[in-house]
Amino acid sequence: MRQADLLKIAGTYGDPVYVYDAEKIISQYNRLTKAFSGVKHLQLNYAAKALSNINILKLMNTLGSGLDTVSIQEVQLGLMAGFKPESIIYTPNGVSLEEIEEAAKLGVRINIDNLSILEQFGGKHPDIPVCIRINPHVMAGGNSNISVGHIDSKFGISIHQIPHLLRIVELTKMNINGIHMHTGSDILDIDVFLYASEILFETAKNFKNLDFIDFGSGFKVPYKKGDIETNVEELGKKLSTRFNEFCAEYGKELTLAFEPGKFLVSEAGYFLTKVNVVKQTTSTVFASVDSGFNHLIRPMLYGASHQIENISNPKGRERYYSVVGYICETDTFASNRRINEISEGDILSFKNAGAYCFTMASNYNSRFRPPEVLWYKNEAHLIRERENFDNLIQNQVDVKNLFDAKKEKATVK
Ligand SMILES: *Cc1c(COP(=O)(O)O)cnc(C)c1O
Repeated sequence: MRQADLLKIAGTYGDPVYVYDAEKIISQYNRLTKAFSGVKHLQLNYAAKALSNINILKLMNTLGSGLDTVSIQEVQLGLMAGFKPESIIYTPNGVSLEEIEEAAKLGVRINIDNLSILEQFGGKHPDIPVCIRINPHVMAGGNSNISVGHIDSKFGISIHQIPHLLRIVELTKMNINGIHMHTGSDILDIDVFLYASEILFETAKNFKNLDFIDFGSGFKVPYKKGDIETNVEELGKKLSTRFNEFCAEYGKELTLAFEPGKFLVSEAGYFLTKVNVVKQTTSTVFASVDSGFNHLIRPMLYGASHQIENISNPKGRERYYSVVGYICETDTFASNRRINEISEGDILSFKNAGAYCFTMASNYNSRFRPPEVLWYKNEAHLIRERENFDNLIQNQVDVKNLFDAKKEKATVK
């Protein structure tokens, strides 16, 4: 997207505001599909938690994507967006048996990640096929909070528990239709990914009725200049070849599935904020914007580094700034970044604001969550309104006559 278009959107819809470039999402989807054109049946299931606005889900649906969901509410959103139940896979972690049964009743595919639930679900519903989430114990990923396949991870059924798993399957007579792994975000080393895939193939041989193998996600996208990204073309070539070999050995054309979130939507997103104050201290120049980690928590949560551009002064001299939010605790978006000279009132654009940004926003400090705008074919569409004061208090219950000012002071019993 052009900076001029972003500036215009900030002018029209106010700030802060999230903007998503639909065409970038489409080109990422096509790029991934093309990388795996060597396999006969490919299924991408967009991970809804990355960005779950219903218009984004509808866009994914028209592209032919399925949906990866991690809560019953995401399942419901997906159905509302028009996904067929069988195009939705439900991959929860640590949820109750009841919630899994609710999802099964809606007709979506079920992915189970622990033996306790597998045993209970199989015992009650041996006729409903399930996919199992395997933990291959491969250390992949960047920050330890987003690396989910290692030995200490809470995710998946350990490969060392396969004998136990097989006994459960045999005793309950349940049907395993897929196997799955998701080793976490930010895979850089394709060989590590292929190694984990071998473990999945080995595991797959234990099951006779598979329809698909789901390799999860973890595609890394560049966040700043010089960042390495997952080479999806190389991965596509190597994994497709290996997958086809495996299918021949297995005796059935299985579906190769992925569940990309970040890869599809991260780079499509921009978060636009306005600089309220430029404050020169003895050691730093702070640019304080009209937002904070209530709207974009990734830098504070994961140490994520979002590139920041001053789109109001793109040709200005570059200077060093720390960009901070207005939240009343440490709230740093970026430290000592070279940014084109900033004046109060300038609009700063945060890049890679498509994945895990709006969906993690909160009302902390009693602030409104920002609006979302979708840019498609050179036109801006408002896809979520800015919150207002009514939204903020709508679920609060103001108990009458409990602490009303005119009455006596509150006391202890
Ligand atoms: C979050 C998640 C994904 C998406 O991961 P990205 O790094 O955003 O691609 C895929 N699968 C599962 C099970 C997830 O929990």
